[in-house]
Amino acid sequence: MKYIIATNNPQKLIELERILSPLNINAVSPKQEGISLDDVEENGTTFKENSFIKAEAACKKTGFPAIADDSGICVDALDGAPGIFSARFGGEDADDNDKNNIILDKLSGVPLEKRGAHYTCAVTCVFPNGDCIQVEEKCFGKIAFEPDGDGGFGYDPIFLYNGVSFGNFSSEDKDKVSHRGKALRLFKDELKKYLEENNVNQ
Ligand code: IMP
Repeated sequence: MKYIIATNNPQKLIELERILSPLNINAVSPKQEGISLDDVEENGTTFKENSFIKAEAACKKTGFPAIADDSGICVDALDGAPGIFSARFGGEDADDNDKNNIILDKLSGVPLEKRGAHYTCAVTCVFPNGDCIQVEEKCFGKIAFEPDGDGGFGYDPIFLYNGVSFGNFSSEDKDKVSHRGKALRLFKDELKKYLEENNVNQ
């Protein structure tokens, strides 16, 4: 069966397709389906709510099951900010470098033991009959004192996992421990179970 991957991000589409490939599902982008999600307002207060909003909108617009993810980084010393605002942190014009520098500045003088942070990734699938599968996973680490490495994207150069910057991880190694890798693997298992229990022929 066809599934809409409710994202405008081609990287996410590739990643979801790769991880879900054992289920033989036909993953298509909103663009391929001729719809736009630009009008969908991510006004939830949690990662789960925002992923649900995106998946539900794509499902309603197409009549096909739709999968969406929502993710971000939560910094303990900043009371969990930027959290669900990770993509928009620092304003429209801030690039990844600017965002990382804002966090490093705010944590200036904070010792390593108080620099805890975690990434969160929520994945939601909404079916046309209203059924919903939802999972969430986290990846815990610390905020570095300076950026390191040019791998990954976003906040990866300042996120230390077991003392090593995600900027120095290969994508395969990051997948094994990351919030998104863990959430997508769990989601794959939940979707498989749902399809078997409901006798759905993919
Ligand atoms: P969204 O899920 O596309 O709304 O945006 C999530 C935002 O959180 C990204 O733009 C990044 O800034 C940040 N983020 C989420 N996951 C990661 C990650 O694995 N590495 C670095 N930054 C991430």
